[in-house]
Amino acid sequence: SLSDRLTATFKNLRGKGRLTEADVDATVREIRRALLDADVAVPVVREFTGQVRERALGAEVSGALNPSQQIVKIVNEELVEILGGETRRIRMAKTGPTIIMLAGLQGAGKTTLAGKLAKWMKAQGHSPILVACDLQRPNAVTQLQVVGQRAGVPVFAPHPGATSELAHPAGDPVAVARSGVEEARQKLHDVVIVDTAGRLGVDADMMEQARQIRRAIVPNEVLFVIDSMIGQDAVNTATAFDEGVNFTGIVLSKLDGDARGGAALSVSSVTGKPVMFASTGESLDDFELFHPDRMASRILDMGDVLSLIEQAEKSWDKDEAARMAKKFADQEDFTLDDFLAQMQQIRKMGSMKKMLMMMPGAQNIRQQLEQFDEREIDRVEAIVRSMTPHERVAPKIINGSRRARIARGSGVHVSEVNGLLERFAQAQKMMKKMAQGGGMPGMPGMPG
Ligand code: GDP
Ligand code: MG
Repeated sequence: SLSDRLTATFKNLRGKGRLTEADVDATVREIRRALLDADVAVPVVREFTGQVRERALGAEVSGALNPSQQIVKIVNEELVEILGGETRRIRMAKTGPTIIMLAGLQGAGKTTLAGKLAKWMKAQGHSPILVACDLQRPNAVTQLQVVGQRAGVPVFAPHPGATSELAHPAGDPVAVARSGVEEARQKLHDVVIVDTAGRLGVDADMMEQARQIRRAIVPNEVLFVIDSMIGQDAVNTATAFDEGVNFTGIVLSKLDGDARGGAALSVSSVTGKPVMFASTGESLDDFELFHPDRMASRILDMGDVLSLIEQAEKSWDKDEAARMAKKFADQEDFTLDDFLAQMQQIRKMGSMKKMLMMMPGAQNIRQQLEQFDEREIDRVEAIVRSMTPHERVAPKIINGSRRARIARGSGVHVSEVNGLLERFAQAQKMMKKMAQGGGMPGMPGMPG
């Protein structure tokens, strides 16, 4: 995965304060490969990595993150930005029904989406109606009727023999669209979802028809539905539809397949339109709001790393660090009990070793963490418990005979008691240093 590859690239970067151009280039190369693997269109990859490179070179050194994490953060931010930033909601009409038109190639998933969207909006308290404007394929109308029934919403479709005043010649999708919207107005539906025809490839007639429907009904949203498995064709298809119908949002369908989501990035990047929904299966419930941040980590295949970066940034609070340091400095006597308490705190975090590696200051404590041994804490605990309360607050009085007694009591060798007292003295010093520097030079009490 990209995560693994970046880790390998980053190995050489460890401990460096700032990234060199060569470092950035190496990382950007890996990211380029990951994007191509995810089927992001080549020109999009080129532009994207160029931007990342520029930002990474100009980036300020962050207190919370090491340089490699900083690049990943930049990549993630740029991905989220291109994908639309925040999840965008449907723009509802101020008066009258909200009109949502669907467009896309045949087989993209429009009709299925119509049902999903209708069901979802109904669950939110709306009363949608579906309009069948795909008169191209023989069973397209029936398919929408089936979908509507399953979603529990009415479907407006052409009836060749209809006598109502809304009767219209079957075969004219623009007339059907117009009548469908009129029906919605009369029956007080607040949402109209207009399903349209597609072709297997982009085609001038189909696009003209879609354009005419758009002009006739003036939709609040035109959703471009695209199969996320489409791969490198995504850019051309999206561009054609954007020029043809000027869609307002993107729906990614078939995200349940093994597509990594490259199409999402390609399409939103070349059109500048946000992805709004994701379709993730054949059932009407396989539908969700699109979350750019989740897709970004799916594309990068490194959700773990991203959440760790987020945690590292959150836990990095300079004010908090300074406050803690001051507390330590004010505390006249940092006792062996405090020392033990700290180690127990570390034990609690033992299972979070991986996270600790990402924490501020991890550069310095990485080695200590790698050697981190839980049994060490057990030994320290045993030793401290064998001390008298007085010895714990005034370790200076622990002479040779006391050391021998403590060693016997805790079942360790005297040299281990000596070692502990030495580390304790170091930790005490470190507390003082932290108070002056305000930083976090290392984890006190760790064997190192
Ligand atoms: P349309 O031609 O754009 O209206 O596409 P359809 O809605 O008829 O869908 C074409 C095919 O793709 C159908 O067999 C659907 O069941 C299937 N399909 C649609 N959306 C999804 C999806 O999100 N996941 C999967 N696995 N299949 C889907
Ligand atoms: Mg269809």
